[in-house]
Amino acid sequence: MPPGALPYRAEQLAWLRGQSHRRFTARTVGELISDCEQAGFDPASDEAANVREWRRQYDRATKVPPRLVEKLERTTAHAREAWREARKQSKFRLFKPHFDKILSLTRQMADCIGYKESPYDALLDDYEPGVTASALRETFTELRAALASILPAAVERSSRVPGDLLRGHYPIAAQQAFNRKAAEAIGFDFSSGRIDPTTHPFCSRIGARDCRLTTRYDETDFVGSLYSVLHEAGHGLYEQGLPQDEFGTPLGSAVSLGIHESQSRLWENHIGRSAAFWEYWHPTACEFFPDLKKLSPEQITAAINRVTPSFIRTESDQMTYDLHIVLRFEVEVDLVEGRLATADVPSVWNQEFEKLLGLKVTKDSEGCLQDIHWAGGMIGYFPTYTLGNLNAAQLMHSMASANPALDQELRAGVYKGVHSWLRDKIHRQGSRLLPAALMQSATGEPTRSHYQVEYLRKKFGGG
Ligand code: MG
Repeated sequence: MPPGALPYRAEQLAWLRGQSHRRFTARTVGELISDCEQAGFDPASDEAANVREWRRQYDRATKVPPRLVEKLERTTAHAREAWREARKQSKFRLFKPHFDKILSLTRQMADCIGYKESPYDALLDDYEPGVTASALRETFTELRAALASILPAAVERSSRVPGDLLRGHYPIAAQQAFNRKAAEAIGFDFSSGRIDPTTHPFCSRIGARDCRLTTRYDETDFVGSLYSVLHEAGHGLYEQGLPQDEFGTPLGSAVSLGIHESQSRLWENHIGRSAAFWEYWHPTACEFFPDLKKLSPEQITAAINRVTPSFIRTESDQMTYDLHIVLRFEVEVDLVEGRLATADVPSVWNQEFEKLLGLKVTKDSEGCLQDIHWAGGMIGYFPTYTLGNLNAAQLMHSMASANPALDQELRAGVYKGVHSWLRDKIHRQGSRLLPAALMQSATGEPTRSHYQVEYLRKKFGGG
């Protein structure tokens, strides 16, 4: 779109968002939900689960006036463009006025929705129903301390692995063929899905039985495209495993971002970055990529698990990733609760970043301007990435306890056990249970940081 078209596009988006909000919050919709509630469905039935979710979403939406929804949509349309320019020039001040508006509108939104302790709770509820800032703060504080204790050993160990070990020539066609083979092996169904190239990998369900994954390619590095595919295919398996005939209802929809991200992280990290994965895939990978023949499966595993603190969240390793999130969470909560002014975001970011990761941020583009989320009005979204990591480790632990042959299966490239366990415990549940109850039913307890910490400790060593 040419830059000049932005103001009109912003009006179009605001109008569409307003229309959608007005339709959903219409009185007749409320009456229909009440009728359903009076129909006396068995509380354990599919119908009751749908009605419960519709009620929850309706009650939340009706508290927010359409004008506010439109205003926020219009504001973020302009803010996303301003953010692109600000990031390009690495100048936070170009984004600041937009950020101020977004923050003020988001706070108004939280006030309309209502909350007990923190306005941040009202925002979180949109992405991770039931989670609160105080619960997250407790979990993240534990996690932060535990990660800090493991990090030095992990970095030390990684320093023995050359950073360019996997550099080579990997033609895009070969990457595409190998990625497809891996996605098929873990169960991604290409009769209702596709993989296409993009700048920023994502997974999107267009409709029932139509799930699109994207990845990006670099001919000198197959790792980026492969692990994006494993990540997005993990999201895709969840989407494909939802009850397809219930498409568009809560029962046919993913329940939260933290659960969604657990599915992508589980396949990307717990399966894909394991020694077992490369034990099985090494010969096939060498057929596609002859440059890998000089490396053993152990060397490849060590290289893809290198831990090195870096500036950009999306490029960070498994050990440091959650530290990037802890930082964003703390900044967001302070902004929303009014303890931090937007003008101070760059300095607080840089200071905290150095404390957490030991690196000095010198450019806003590598600091507080790197992600698009705030420009899109998505405040309260970041913590769900870490919840995804915690959930993934917890699910993996439960799965392994239930299946003593799991490790053997993974070494043989057999993923049916993992696939069907997830399908049964998570995918086919849709939004029948809210996240905490879903984790409770799948693993016997709500989300904890313990399993992720133990997993990382085992993998990377440290006290
Ligand atoms: Mg993801």
